[in-house]
Order: sequence, then C-alpha cells, then structure tokens
Amino acid sequence: MSDCLFCKIVEGNIPSSKVYEDDQYYAFNDIGPQAPTHILVVAKRHLDRISSMDDGDCAMIGGLFRTAARICAEKNIEDYRLVINNGAGVGQSVFHIHLHILAGRPMGWPPG
Ligand code: 5GP
Ligand code: ZN
Repeated sequence: MSDCLFCKIVEGNIPSSKVYEDDQYYAFNDIGPQAPTHILVVAKRHLDRISSMDDGDCAMIGGLFRTAARICAEKNIEDYRLVINNGAGVGQSVFHIHLHILAGRPMGWPPG
C-alpha cells in the first residue's frame, strides 16, 4: 500500500535496522524499544489488522510466529513475549499487521 509506513519500510523506501528477511517476511528493530530486544516482524503482503484476516491469511499469520521463533532461536533468546495489537484502543498505531518480539527484561502480567 502506497501510504503504509511498514510497506515503505519493506520496500526500502524508509530506512530501518533489518534483523531478518526472506521472500515473505521482514523483521527490524523497533524505533522506540520497550525492552532491550524489541523487534517487529511483518509480512511483506499488506494486511491492516488481525480482525481483517480471512481463512486465506492463516498461513501468513502463522509464518509471522514461525519467523519470530526462528529469529529468537538464532539470537539464543529463550524467553520472549509476542504481541499483536488489534485496534487503536489497545495501542495499534501502524495499520500493517506486525508481531512485536519483546525480550531482555522482566515483564509483568497482565500487560498494561
Ligand atoms: P503498534 O503500536 O502499532 O502495535 O506498533 C507500532 C510500532 O512501530 C511501535 O512500537 C513504534 O515504535 C514502531 N514504529 C513506528 N514508526 C516506526 C519507524 O519509522 N521505524 C521503526 N523501526 N519502528 C517504528
Ligand atoms: Zn502495509
């Protein structure tokens, strides 16, 4: 999508600190880290939010988690939190689905 921040990052039109890339997924360091490790994993294909998913998107969303697990394994990170915000009311600010990987500090539960 031409006006989507994360599409522009995936396309290389906005710079980012790349962590991982393959033909379907792109991962980069969050610009405002909330933990010592804070990585965003996105699918290259644009989808705005989890509530827009249909059955044809299941593999793509599953791949986000698989990619996150691969990244953490490569970095020897055993304990991590994976977060997807759905909707502005719970903090979604970029409407291109992204999986947050948070690690490297103690985390409370429930999340705030
Ligand atoms: P959300 O609030 O939508 O779940 O997460 C969006 C995340 O994107 C935030 O954690 C925010 O810090 C990050 N972010 C926003 N703009 C940029 C950017 O231009 N570059 C990078 N690397 N991260 C960004
Ligand atoms: Zn997008």
